[in-house]
Amino acid sequence: MNPTILRVALKAPLHELYDYLAPAGGPEPVVGQRVSVPFGRSERIGIIAALATTTPIAPERLKAAKQIIDAVPLLDRPLVELLNWAAAYYQHPPGEVFAAALPVALRKGQEALGASEARWRITDKGNAALDASAIKAPVQKQVLQALQSGEHNSTALAAVHDGWQRAVRELQKKTFVAKFTAELPKVLPPDVPLKTGPQLNADQQQAVDQITPANSKTWLLDGVTGSGKTEVYLRLIEQQLDAGKQTLVVVPEIGLTPQLVSRFRERLAATVVVMHSNLNDTERTQAWLDASDGTAGVIIGTRSAIFTALNQPGLIVIDEEHDASLKQQEGFRYSARDLAVVRGKKLKIPVILGSATPSFETLANATVGRYERLRLPIRAGGASQPEVNLIDLQRYPATDGLTQPMIDAIGRHLGNNGQVLIYLNRRGFAPTLFCSNCCSCVECRRCDARLVVHQQRNLAVCHHCGFESRLPDVCPECSGELLPLGQGTERIETAIKNLFPEETIVRLDRDSTRRKGSIEQHLEIIRGGHARILLGTQMLTKGHDFPNVTLVCVLDADQGLFGTDFRSGERLAQNFIQVSGRAGRADRSGEVWIQTLYPEHPQLQTLLNKGYAGYAEEGLAERQATAWPPYSHLALLRAESSSKDTLYQFLTAARGLADQINPGSVRILGPASAPMERRSGRWRAQILLQAEHRPALQALLTSWRQHLVESSLSRKARWSIDVDPIELF
Ligand code: ADP
Ligand code: ZN
Ligand code: ZN
Repeated sequence: MNPTILRVALKAPLHELYDYLAPAGGPEPVVGQRVSVPFGRSERIGIIAALATTTPIAPERLKAAKQIIDAVPLLDRPLVELLNWAAAYYQHPPGEVFAAALPVALRKGQEALGASEARWRITDKGNAALDASAIKAPVQKQVLQALQSGEHNSTALAAVHDGWQRAVRELQKKTFVAKFTAELPKVLPPDVPLKTGPQLNADQQQAVDQITPANSKTWLLDGVTGSGKTEVYLRLIEQQLDAGKQTLVVVPEIGLTPQLVSRFRERLAATVVVMHSNLNDTERTQAWLDASDGTAGVIIGTRSAIFTALNQPGLIVIDEEHDASLKQQEGFRYSARDLAVVRGKKLKIPVILGSATPSFETLANATVGRYERLRLPIRAGGASQPEVNLIDLQRYPATDGLTQPMIDAIGRHLGNNGQVLIYLNRRGFAPTLFCSNCCSCVECRRCDARLVVHQQRNLAVCHHCGFESRLPDVCPECSGELLPLGQGTERIETAIKNLFPEETIVRLDRDSTRRKGSIEQHLEIIRGGHARILLGTQMLTKGHDFPNVTLVCVLDADQGLFGTDFRSGERLAQNFIQVSGRAGRADRSGEVWIQTLYPEHPQLQTLLNKGYAGYAEEGLAERQATAWPPYSHLALLRAESSSKDTLYQFLTAARGLADQINPGSVRILGPASAPMERRSGRWRAQILLQAEHRPALQALLTSWRQHLVESSLSRKARWSIDVDPIELF
């Protein structure tokens, strides 16, 4: 009889699985179990990704695994299949792919039982020291003071001070604080009466009737903003819960939509768990285990939640399926949306892709019948679509980014007791710092980018590498006078404050929401009506339901008009429709006012006259004519190096290899410099592959990657393969 070989996904450099003999004794090896194995001089924990009876490893080099950790596999078979598929498709090491599916604690081998977490409390000695004012170090003092009000976990301590870890270590040495392990209770459904939803309209009802559990297709729920897509999800989830099934809901950014989570909790008789990047390890492990043992009826999470193990999977929902954040942009570059479709097929359960502005890929898939399209063409609850007006910036010059007609419109809506949303997708005070003497702009020394003025923090900041310096008083080149040129949200905030001194303004961007919990605070102020002017970047446009907003102001429609990426038009249209959709969502009708230098621009005109559907139709025809996705398939080899020579040596060799393997059906372009050629002090360039059919592209990529991994040049540059890139740089 042949021995059982375990093919193990290990977080290690190789792009392959690692083969081991099954350990002597212990449970029967099953795919999806964690296993500890000898690795070099140490021991590692991996997951059994496959079983085999033969291996290319020579018998004398084949080692035995030490121990199988889980009696019951941690990952079910369809999930293991999905991960194996993803590793192959995205050309990524399986060890890292499997690691992405597990919270850190489970990756390290923690027993898959109820969760516990580390906490700290103050000791009597610590109390005495604090009372005697014997603590001089400021951070230690702050931490002790916080602990006086009760025990803290790591998340709570991090909110006290960034440097908490060091302070706590010192305090523990002096036995002023003690660390202990606390068991966490399971999350139980809240003990409050559930809210009931509104009566569905005919379109919503039709969607609910069609998407039955037996109808395991991929559905595109194409509904205008405010058409009640979330209501449809809620009804379908209720059906799933009644049948004892779980629903996985993936959203772009949970931090931005806390109201979505409470809406689910208020309506559903089930445990609703949340998975996103702001959870600490313990919280994440707990949520993961609740999903995998079936405690949770609904799992809401950001893109990585697509890998959550589910005990009774019934339905997968991808909300805002067009959103770029569903694609991971570094390391393991997967698309949570595309993986949802694959996972749904493997599980034979329905998948819903919801959006008011579906991606062109999804629209094309619906057109050829791969997905089934359901439309919600009107707003639910009787709200009407907003009226859109353009302001020509040539005719009405702007002061501090605002034209007179825009200021008048804001005044009018405030006068009618409406809320006003002002959108500008640029944070900071001004995007450039211009020298009036030598006409240069202050640039980042490590990137091909200008430094952005952040006046409140008195800093010049690079938005690409994070470099920060004090705002220079004079030009670093010629000592000439420096002028902040252009507008960011910070500058608009100042201008609005001067124009409407009585109003409270809430600014929502990455700078104003650094502190944990501050997004929720801002959103509360807005929803409670304590502020009538909301100002912000894209953060403001994502999925929020602000019922009292009657006016949306788009300060700079031109930001996306001249993008170089083949997708910039699609992105512009999506942003535009999404931000407009924040106006007039309840019983009050809304207006959208847009400032532009190019009111006649064909893209703007199409969007205004034909809406997103008409825009997408034209856009897709153009993609077809030029053979861009979705009418072809792309992959990028991106590389970077601190030496430009090394970079091009590597890419030129890589190109040569690709040409040798190419059966002829793949177009190979490059090496070409990346649109931002230097970033964080490194040179960047890429090779683009384009093919009409996926199998040809996949075959080339697989063989190319193997060659690259084995080539000596590959260690000289940092490189990665991006399959289905959503940005070409
Ligand atoms: P979407 O997810 O498409 O943006 P929502 O489901 O959030 O839309 O619905 C928008 C608003 O309309 C919400 O306030 C919701 O409660 C309300 N709504 C949804 N469906 C109905 C309906 N059938 N009747 C009345 N109000 C509804
Ligand atoms: Zn100068
Ligand atoms: Zn920089």
